[in-house]
Amino acid sequence: MYTFGGSVLLLAGCRDRGENVLNADDYNRFTQEFVARRNGALKSGEEAAWLKGVDPSNQALVKHEKMFFANLRKVGFEQLEFVTEPYPLVPEPQRYTKSLTHEHPIAYKVSMRSKLSFDRVASEADYTYIFGLVGDTWTLLDFGPDTEDADTRYDAPWDLNALKVVKAGDVLLAADSSVKDFEKYAKVAARASREVRALWGKHAALPGFAVFLTQSQKNYGSWYGKHDPSRTEGMEMTLREKGNIEQYAGARVIINLANSLKGGDPFSALKHEMTHAIGVMLQKPTIALPGAGGALEMNTGVPTWAVEGFATYFENRGVPRKVANEAALVGDGIRKGLLRGDLPRNKGFYDGDEIYFNYAVGWSIFDFLARAKGHETAVAVYVDLLTHPAFDNMQGADALFDSLYRLKLQSEPFVDTRNSKFWAAWKAHVSRF
Ligand SMILES: [Zn+2]
Repeated sequence: MYTFGGSVLLLAGCRDRGENVLNADDYNRFTQEFVARRNGALKSGEEAAWLKGVDPSNQALVKHEKMFFANLRKVGFEQLEFVTEPYPLVPEPQRYTKSLTHEHPIAYKVSMRSKLSFDRVASEADYTYIFGLVGDTWTLLDFGPDTEDADTRYDAPWDLNALKVVKAGDVLLAADSSVKDFEKYAKVAARASREVRALWGKHAALPGFAVFLTQSQKNYGSWYGKHDPSRTEGMEMTLREKGNIEQYAGARVIINLANSLKGGDPFSALKHEMTHAIGVMLQKPTIALPGAGGALEMNTGVPTWAVEGFATYFENRGVPRKVANEAALVGDGIRKGLLRGDLPRNKGFYDGDEIYFNYAVGWSIFDFLARAKGHETAVAVYVDLLTHPAFDNMQGADALFDSLYRLKLQSEPFVDTRNSKFWAAWKAHVSRF
């Protein structure tokens, strides 16, 4: 029985290597050395250095590590490094083993800190690495994403699928092997970016977009965590900066060609998701507010009707067919009684069939603002909403009225839907749909 320097985890029956007894500090050092060697490999491009210490008997793991390394080299990060904390953790099987049969496996949390040139700052993804001593070699036995930390995103496309990568204007475009004619989408994406920037105008903007394409429902449904691929043509994922609750670090866009090609090409979906992404330089992140007992009771955030309504407004602008379709959804929903005297709240916004009305009613607010006060005013109201998060019991029309008051588009500081002149005028307008 030995006492270990680290004292975090008791490693019973730790092995002897000749004269030396290994303790937790030694294992920490091995892990630091492993990670440092990999950071060197990412710089030098030496695959052999990246693969050194990966369990050669675990073919699925070796295959993943080769793919991951090739992807990371292709993407062209401005900053990319793996970091680990010197605290061993209790090991459990991850993605590439069913059971840990090696003697004394140990887990470590390893984070990938990365920044693309147009991200505001670096963001992190956390992984669990399982190591063991095989002979004299500190060996990576298994690996998987750490899905617990709310500050990190896991299952980025480069973690899961071999990617082709191309740069087009301010767009970094990557696709998996399901996408044929990949190069032609680079032009579509660059055009979507130009149109979104022209509509966005003078406001602070994300300087570039990272877009990932797939035609595989399975791959799309696994990117950035499991989700139902049948419901969307694309998604925008915000990235957090570790330890900063005030600002986002950047954004990623994923496009589901299996769905978006049904409308012809992914141009609309790209425009919609890029509209979400362009504002992340300004957008205040949602913050969960715990009650006195510690349970999550409230949040502050940007109203979802505004986020989705505004992206739909950019997507539809100048396309009469889409505008008519959106107006019909608003009219039908109002006749079915879906308006309920307020704009939809964040909770339940995406649920069931009302999702279509919820998007459309959000669109109608910005479309009406543009008709009544001009396109720039519609954008200014959205920017104001992005930068002034609302409590979750005020994320319907209350948030809109506060914004209109701040921008001097409404003279009274406190109104509700029963006495707001804006609401009455908007309602008269949409009642004709
Ligand atoms: Zn959206």
